[in-house]
Parts: sequence; C-alpha cells; structure tokens
Amino acid sequence: SVVLGIETSCDDTGCAVVDSTGSILGESLYSQTALHIRYGGVNPVFAHELHRSNIESAVSDALRNAGKNIKDIDAIAVTTRPGLLLSLQVGSKYARYMCRIHNKPLIPIHHMEAHALVARMYHKVQFPFLVLLISGGHCLLALVKDVNNFELLGKGIDNAPGEVLDKVARRMKLRNKPEYSKISGGQAIELAAQRSTNLSQFEFPLPLAKYRDCNFSFSGLKDSTIRKLEERETEHNVMGDELIPEVYDLCAAFQLAVAEHIAHRTHRAMLYCEKYKLIDPNNRVVVVSGGVACNNFIFKSIEHVGSEMGYRTYRPPHNVCTDNGVMIAWNGIEKLRKQIDIRTDFSLKVEPEAPLGKDSRDKVETAN
Ligand code: ATP
Ligand code: FE
Repeated sequence: SVVLGIETSCDDTGCAVVDSTGSILGESLYSQTALHIRYGGVNPVFAHELHRSNIESAVSDALRNAGKNIKDIDAIAVTTRPGLLLSLQVGSKYARYMCRIHNKPLIPIHHMEAHALVARMYHKVQFPFLVLLISGGHCLLALVKDVNNFELLGKGIDNAPGEVLDKVARRMKLRNKPEYSKISGGQAIELAAQRSTNLSQFEFPLPLAKYRDCNFSFSGLKDSTIRKLEERETEHNVMGDELIPEVYDLCAAFQLAVAEHIAHRTHRAMLYCEKYKLIDPNNRVVVVSGGVACNNFIFKSIEHVGSEMGYRTYRPPHNVCTDNGVMIAWNGIEKLRKQIDIRTDFSLKVEPEAPLGKDSRDKVETAN
C-alpha cells in the first residue's frame, strides 16, 4: 500500500508518499526554521499563516515528486497530536477535506510516536525497543512495545534540550558570526564546540544525579552556562555584539554536560529494562530521534552507554530526525498494516497536549 503523510504540528509543513516496503516515493518540506532563528523562537501566529499558505503546494509537490495521483494513494495519515493547536488544525483540516472528496481512509498520528517508529523504516528494529526522543519541544524515554503501545519511562520536567541549546546559542551571540547565522542553535553549539581547546576550565554538576528515576532537567544547566558567560563578559569587559574569548570552550563544556545527563538517564532506563526483562537480551535496541539526535557528540555518548549495556543504537537520517512528513506517512503504513485507527468516517480530533503512552515513571523510580 501507499500512504500520504502530512505533518504540521509545529513550524514545518512536511509531506511524503511512502510505500509499505519503506521506500520514500516523494516528499516535500517547507521549513520555517530560518525565519524562527531570526525571531528567536517559533511564533504560533506566523507558523499558522505559513502552514495555511504552504499546505496545498506541500501536498501536491509530494504527490508530483512521487509521480502519483491522489487516486493511487491508499490512505492519508496526518499529525493530530501533540503540537500547536492552530498548526495541527491546518494539516488535519486539509487531510480530512482530501479524504472526503476522494473517499480515502484517514489515519490520525501522534507526532512523538512517529519520531520513534520511523527508525523501523531504516534499521532492523523489532518490538519491544527503547526510544529516546530529544527535540526542541520534548525529552522522552519510552519503551515501545508495539505500533500503538508505548510505556513512558522518563521525561523532561522543565525546558527541552533543543530549546536550551537554542537559548544558550542565542545568548552567546553565536549568530553574529556569519558561519552560525543560518543554522539552528543546536547545530551552532555543535560546530562551535569542535573548536574548543580547553573545556575543562568549565565544569557543570550532573542534573538530578541523586534521583533514581529517568526524568530530565536542563534548565539548571542553561542557567549555570549563562551565569558563567556573564562572569566572563564582565571580566573581559565585552560589549554589545562581541563574543567572549572562551566561547568555544564554554559551548563544548555545556554540550558535554547535556550529553552526560542524557546518557546517564538513558543508562538508568536500560538498567530498569534489564531488571524486569522488558527487552529481549538477544535484541537490545535503543532508537534516538528528534532534532537534537542530529548532534553527533550527544549521539556518540548514548551509543557509548548503549554498547556497555549490550544495546545497538540507531538513529534515522538527520533530515528524518527533525520534523518531516516521511515519519507520518510511515506511521500510517504501520497502522494500516495492523488496522489501527483507520477512520473511514473522517472523524478527527486535534489534541495540543497528548502524553506519550502509559506513564510508568513511578515504577521506574521505585525499581532502581
Ligand atoms: P518537537 O518535535 O518536540 O515538537 P521541534 O519540532 O521543534 O520539537 P525538531 O524539529 O525535532 O523539534 O528539532 C529542532 C531542535 O533540534 C532545535 O532545538 C535545534 O536546535 C535542535 N538541533 C538541530 N540540529 C542539532 C544539532 N546538530 N545539535 C543539537 N541540536 C540540534
Ligand atoms: Fe518533532
């Protein structure tokens, strides 16, 4: 079968046509990242406007690239949760309208489940597997037992990692350097960190070190990084748009702290799965996805704890870690195969807040 996927949960309008073998027949992406970098964050009103003006072209581009007519499509999958209300509505309404006039089944998709499942399109990943989703709006650790069966093991209790990377990059004024002006804050930090020569001058305590659960906290790291930045700014009498001389070292130390925290929590989740035999010992897999998974330094830190625990660590290609239509179409294929959530009456409900799976965080806390 062939599914058209539509993603409009946040700021990117993404569409794709994917078949049941996992081939991407065609795709399109209208990204608003450049605009939001300029304004320092996603503006829901702008995002809504841009989705509205792009949705029609995004769908027709994906179909044209695939060399397909809407008649050749078996179902339309669309993100209905979680996300920005107005943004979600643009995709959902358009998908419902298309399904009605062409009489196609409609499949609602959970954005974070799609981020997790798309790894199965690229790698040999069988249920159950562990997933770590690190992005601009989320930080989640979950056990994926089936297409529609997720168990939440841990999540961020304050700012998401991507959000913190973006804020710190902005505060460090990295954007004032032309080489960092057109990329996301997270990517800017990664590149800047590579130029560090002495990161040990900055040290950060491990967040939530004494808690026995798998939750995350990044706001303390953000605050201490900004405090250190301000100290150096005063010390060097830095003015206006100037950067501190130790900017690369501070980026590297901050990135290291973020990576260590993520790796530490992932390790706890692995210990929990081990203790209760939740993962097949012959097939231990952890999937890492979401925009921050693009960061090679962070990914390698997870790969490292993974290999110590006997896990294979997988991530989708970079452009599929960030928001895209491919993962929505693929989740549609997975649901179609199992006949889950197929709406032939075109009913659809958007939910801005939607937790991922069953919350098992209490169990994790008492177990470890
Ligand atoms: P969500 O999926 O939670 O709704 P989102 O859609 O905003 O959030 P994504 O598109 O998955 O998130 O990811 C965007 C985030 O990824 C940004 O915060 C960006 O800074 C971060 N990011 C992108 N590339 C890198 C990188 N190389 N290193 C670290 N972070 C990165
Ligand atoms: Fe996302």
